[in-house]
Amino acid sequence: MSHDQEVLSGQAEFILPAVRPLYEKPLILHKGQGVWVKDVNGREYLDLFAGILTTSVGHCNPHVVARMTDQLGKLGHTSTLYVTEPQVEASSRLASIAPGKLSQTFFTNSGTEAIESAIQMAFLHTGRSEVIGLRQSYHGRSFMASNLTAVSSWRPLATSFPGIKHVQTPYPYRCPYKQPCDASCAEKFANDIEDVIRTTTNGKPAAFIAESVMGVGGYIVPPPGYLKRAAEIIRSYGGLFISDEVQSGFGRSGTHWFGIEHSEVEPDIMAMAKGIANGAPVGAMITSPEIAESWQAKTISTFGGNPISMAAAAATLEVMVDEDVPQRATVQGEQLLTGLLQLKDQFEWIGDVRGRGLMLGLELVEDREEKKPFPAKAQALLESCKNQGLLVGIGGLYSHVIRLGPSLLVTAPEIEEGLKRFGRACHELEER
Ligand code: PMP
Repeated sequence: MSHDQEVLSGQAEFILPAVRPLYEKPLILHKGQGVWVKDVNGREYLDLFAGILTTSVGHCNPHVVARMTDQLGKLGHTSTLYVTEPQVEASSRLASIAPGKLSQTFFTNSGTEAIESAIQMAFLHTGRSEVIGLRQSYHGRSFMASNLTAVSSWRPLATSFPGIKHVQTPYPYRCPYKQPCDASCAEKFANDIEDVIRTTTNGKPAAFIAESVMGVGGYIVPPPGYLKRAAEIIRSYGGLFISDEVQSGFGRSGTHWFGIEHSEVEPDIMAMAKGIANGAPVGAMITSPEIAESWQAKTISTFGGNPISMAAAAATLEVMVDEDVPQRATVQGEQLLTGLLQLKDQFEWIGDVRGRGLMLGLELVEDREEKKPFPAKAQALLESCKNQGLLVGIGGLYSHVIRLGPSLLVTAPEIEEGLKRFGRACHELEER
């Protein structure tokens, strides 16, 4: 048996089958540097998906590696019972880039736990226990977070977590009100929040939660004005506005540090993870001191705020500020978007190209009139990208949206190379 067959049979035998690798023949990654990764056979790939938008300053970023290695040799674990310098440093760096009054953080080991903490925080602060989310959202894999998630394939149980309600997806490409969808539709989408509060809750919701750019749902950017209106509505009913920045945070959306800042909304609570520590397992919930004060019961996390993870977060945030990643995401995002729009002109089945900064997606459709989702094409494109030595992601309700989200330090020549490979992958499909 070859080495890769051995590894794959180990995966099949010992890992839960629900953990499904992306490709027909799963890719076994072995090494990475910057935006490049190598498989076990030494084949190189340009990684424009960054382990789901997570290696935000590049695989094995030397500064992050150095700080983690140094910390590993000094002190590897404490639990939150003790104070550590790396945790204080990471939290103060986070507070310095977070919008408005958000300055107090609880660190977790994943995005899911950050979401759990955000919802608990909102319940504790308001003394209420109903929460409104968006259809097609993704918020995590725990019992509560998978119920808050509204993509059926990511909701394993029929049992419902109480108090969760979902409202209409503010989805411009499939806007039922007007095409092209614009700011005038935002009010109509937002009306559904008020309808749901009035009809399916006790009228006293604890919070509204939204991804500022919907990730797993297919890189959906709500129409201008929607999130601002959503915040006004939830606040008029005494609830909090929670922004899920797990994918869209840390400069990813361009210009600003967090996706929600494009909407002129100061969230009451933000949940973050992924890009925060360049791949070290870190999630975070940040809020204002006034709201944080409402959590009076004790809380603890054995691994949350772990010194090595915190060294990774502090180092990643340091690189992000030094390199001005929001600005880089704007410039390189523009370059990527321009190239993708040119491909849309050539291929009928690319129905929509959208996103913000370096979080860009292509929605594939059977035809542009009916806009029937085209998951088979998306799957084929994913595979042909792999043949061209390019890693991209997939998403959308029907797995018909190709997602791109490289390291925020990606350079112009690397984007150019990525576009060349992506173009070749599109042509490869036509030739079949
Ligand atoms: N929120 C969003 C927007 C996400 O994309 C994800 C992960 N895909 C999560 C929460 C959950 O994060 P994790 O997988 O780290 O638990």
